[in-house]
Amino acid sequence: ALTADHAHPVAVAIEPAGPALPLSAGRPDETFDNDGQITKRPIRALTLSALAPRAGEHLWDIGSGSGSIAIEWLMAHPACTATAIERRPDRAARIRANADALGQDRLRVVEGAAPYALDGLAPPDAIFVGGGLTEALLGRLTRLGARLVVNAVTLESEALVLAAEARLGGELLRVQTARPTSIGGFRGWDNAFPLLQWSWSP
Ligand code: SAH
Repeated sequence: ALTADHAHPVAVAIEPAGPALPLSAGRPDETFDNDGQITKRPIRALTLSALAPRAGEHLWDIGSGSGSIAIEWLMAHPACTATAIERRPDRAARIRANADALGQDRLRVVEGAAPYALDGLAPPDAIFVGGGLTEALLGRLTRLGARLVVNAVTLESEALVLAAEARLGGELLRVQTARPTSIGGFRGWDNAFPLLQWSWSP
């Protein structure tokens, strides 16, 4: 029997007009208008894998930046929904514009700072924290019954994550990426900040 391609209606429609977006998470950074604060493609792929979206699930993307994580969550399945929480008004506006440009209308953008901005939101199945991590926020998020993925880059957020893992378990992943850069006629590795990713399920 013929079935509609519910998973990829946009790609099917635009393919003849230009290059289609890749179908796997970790799309090129340029897919999302951004001001430099964006979870880079390889880390974004690892993060979506850890978030592990299932059909119909709802994500909170806290410190959403360009919205790239929330938008790739929506792209995982047409029944997925997300709320992007971002305290900077310019970035909140950019998240909305990125979602619209990519045809993702199942995104709610909340302009405000976590944890206060979380009051009254639809409960999540999964949560990503990319900014604004504090002990109070972690305490609140771990009581919601949702899966949690935290990317920590600073010493302070790393300390919070390690303390939480010691208490609650979960999975720690250290990630160090590097790209070649020139050193006088030769090349060497330019390391990005090392990242600590903590994934936890209640
Ligand atoms: N994952 C994002 C990048 C996140 S950068 C992307 O791929 O685009 C971290 C973001 O967290 C910044 O935009 C910063 O403004 C936001 N932020 C920091 N503290 C916050 C808080 N308490 N509540 C909401 N947003 C916060």
